[in-house]
Amino acid sequence: MAPQTKTSSRPRRAAAGDDAVHDVLVVGAGPAGSACAYWLADAGWDVVVVEKKQFPREKTCGDGLTPRSVRQLTDMGLAGALAGAHRYRGLRSCAYGMTMELAWPLHPSFPNVGYVITRHDLDQMVAERAAKAGAQLLQGTEAAEPLLAQAPAPGRNGPERLPDCMGALVVDRATKTTRHIRAKYVVVADGANSRFGRALGAERDRDHPLGMALRGYFRSPRHDDEFIESHLDIRDAEGTVVPGYGWIFPLGDGRVNVGVGLLSTDGRHKGVNTTTLMHAFLDWAPKSWGLSPAGALAPPTGGKLPMGLSVAPRVGATTLAIGDAAGAINPFNGEGIAYGYETGRLAAACLGRALSGEGTAALDDYERQLQDAFGLYYQVARDFVRMISHPKVMEVCVRTGMHSEGIMGVLLKIMGNLLRPDEQGVAEVAYKALAAAARTVPGW
Ligand SMILES: Cc1cc2nc3c(=O)[nH]c(=O)nc-3n(C[C@H](O)[C@H](O)[C@H](O)COP(=O)(O)OP(=O)(O)OC[C@H]3O[C@@H](n4cnc5c(N)ncnc54)[C@H](O)[C@@H]3O)c2cc1C
Repeated sequence: MAPQTKTSSRPRRAAAGDDAVHDVLVVGAGPAGSACAYWLADAGWDVVVVEKKQFPREKTCGDGLTPRSVRQLTDMGLAGALAGAHRYRGLRSCAYGMTMELAWPLHPSFPNVGYVITRHDLDQMVAERAAKAGAQLLQGTEAAEPLLAQAPAPGRNGPERLPDCMGALVVDRATKTTRHIRAKYVVVADGANSRFGRALGAERDRDHPLGMALRGYFRSPRHDDEFIESHLDIRDAEGTVVPGYGWIFPLGDGRVNVGVGLLSTDGRHKGVNTTTLMHAFLDWAPKSWGLSPAGALAPPTGGKLPMGLSVAPRVGATTLAIGDAAGAINPFNGEGIAYGYETGRLAAACLGRALSGEGTAALDDYERQLQDAFGLYYQVARDFVRMISHPKVMEVCVRTGMHSEGIMGVLLKIMGNLLRPDEQGVAEVAYKALAAAARTVPGW
């Protein structure tokens, strides 16, 4: 997974905005873009990252880091920087009056701890890490348009590959001046709305599930709880249980991050209003958290979660898409930070090979590696999500699970993508059965 080390003696970087052609231009400095830039810069490549906002900046999120994210941050040398964040041990699941605490499982590749840290702090930390490794980070700089060899020519179902992109027309948001930044390769990492990706012809497949979520910060006496909490029986205005969950993630600084997330499959549940859901959840949540709509520290904000590698194409001869711009969120649990870091790292490794002489063939390998790492797992997740989008099925599953710590432990491992390759435990066997079903009858 580690990018190759560069051996060329060329100067490491050229000033952005001059006539120089950089090795790589990364559009967006969220988890995906900053991780990609870090791994490229760490390997010695000349990489420019443009970020339209100035750090520190807000980003709507639950702020929950799972063991997969912690592993990636540790690999980027940020374990020490996490020390100031709120560390938690596992997940407390609540539904139908029952509560269960599940510690993160032991795993040879992932730590058994998570953190809750605002994206305001986290994203600045990772972007600065990339800059320290040698990436040029241009904040307040928006990639307004891709520089294309020729206009994208969509087929009947959209283009099969991203068009050749040679850089971007960027706007300095403070001075409103524009200029071109040119690069041999361009990485699209501009998040869930991905305007840049859409300008290249990428589209979300509407058959895939889409998450919609709303979150706010609240003061709480339980701000330093050692478990994150999820409520699996959130209800719409009619009192019907909807597919999704309500969460309370303690930040350890007097605040908790509270949110509701809803899964829309096959266009279902599109009409459910997340603000109504949030109010109902604040009312419903255990009183010990001390939550109320009036206690919000700022108006809650929402966003979309493109899941299951739902955005395509993700590869072109000179272009790769990563993170939310590739629809890389895990449909099982709505986790996207780790998958931003991981897809960014995979992309950096392939780009390193391309720059080392393999050329554009190495970029095609990115799609193969994505499929190897996440293809089947996400297919299983999509089928699972489709199944639980029927309210009755959802209720039976949750009620059954909540009666057995064994079942919930298995689900935590599967849904957190923390299965052990070296073990044949119940979770691993259960997942294999689900994967076999997904392979034989997609959409069972
Ligand atoms: C309400 C909510 C709660 C969530 N909770 C969690 C959670 O608890 N844990 C978890 O793991 N995931 C969570 N997610 C998902 C997670 O936020 C995303 O998956 C993750 O942020 C994806 O990272 P990214 O780098 O792909 O995109 P982003 O984080 O969106 O970063 C994209 C960056 O690109 C910049 N940008 C955009 N356009 C341009 C442009 N044209 N030029 C330059 N810069 C540009 C943006 O300013 C931004 O900084 C949640 C999502 C939502 C909406």
